[in-house]
Amino acid sequence: MRMQNLTLSAAHVQPIQKKLYQHRNLRCAVLRLDALHPVVSGNKWFKLNRFLQKSADENKQGLISFGGAWSNHLLATAAACAAMGFASVGLVRGEQPRQLSPTLSDAQRYGMQLHFLSREAYRAGELPHTVKQRYPADQWCLVPEGGYAKEGAYGASGILQNIPLADYSHILCAAGTGTTLAGLSLAAGSEQVVGISVLKNAETIRSEVQALLPREKNNFAILHDFHFGGYAKKTDELIHFMNQWYQDTAIPSDFVYTGKMFFAAERLVNEGYFPEGASILLIHTGGLQGNRSLPKGTLIF
Ligand SMILES: *Cc1c(COP(=O)(O)O)cnc(C)c1O
Repeated sequence: MRMQNLTLSAAHVQPIQKKLYQHRNLRCAVLRLDALHPVVSGNKWFKLNRFLQKSADENKQGLISFGGAWSNHLLATAAACAAMGFASVGLVRGEQPRQLSPTLSDAQRYGMQLHFLSREAYRAGELPHTVKQRYPADQWCLVPEGGYAKEGAYGASGILQNIPLADYSHILCAAGTGTTLAGLSLAAGSEQVVGISVLKNAETIRSEVQALLPREKNNFAILHDFHFGGYAKKTDELIHFMNQWYQDTAIPSDFVYTGKMFFAAERLVNEGYFPEGASILLIHTGGLQGNRSLPKGTLIF
């Protein structure tokens, strides 16, 4: 595959030195996938891998996918396609606004063609007739929302490729569709993979993750108490925590996914969720560009 202008730097593992962990004889580190690229979230890049490969193998024109106005997934799709010399199409939830969000303007700048779908049409998951005609299925590779598919999960398993898993007993990540969680579960052996659901009422997520995995894989758990009101919802407590976490660790987080995951990690440590001697790897899945939807001054980073 051709790599043009997307330069990925290596993700690194940053140990967290906090008294909280030392007191309980725990070790904790963060895998900084946010350091891969300023706008392309780390986990999104991994989830898209196999779709890009498929497009190349099948000589497609490019990728077509779905997302909202602040979607990390659409922006990552646009940038990855631009880097590989593919075209990209974004089907955006909701009516076309007078002014595009910074996320969508960036996606457009990467060459993505945007089409706006009414919320009803979007929810139905059906491509409108006009879109189907314009982007025929034999020429375009359709990526489900959030990359939720076996291809997405196998791609995401690459996140742990160069990580010495024997060093860890627990791996935590934020879970939206759960595709990334499935990928981590695929890569992990006996390590416990814990997904922090960022959605309210996500009763079906466990079976959705399981559907991406071989039947015998059950090394994962999903926790439902850290969504802060639901997808992209936030509270003052969350924002305060994110600022404090940044002061303590110099790690920026986003309010939709990773802020909730770091908060959960700290709460779980305090509640004694992890056994004595546990070694925890927190996956920073990126997504920082989404903080642009917050009023200026909300975050200190
Ligand atoms: C999309 C996203 C997730 C969720 O990934 P899923 O595979 O859908 O569970 C987590 N973190 C960030 C930063 C994301 O952008």
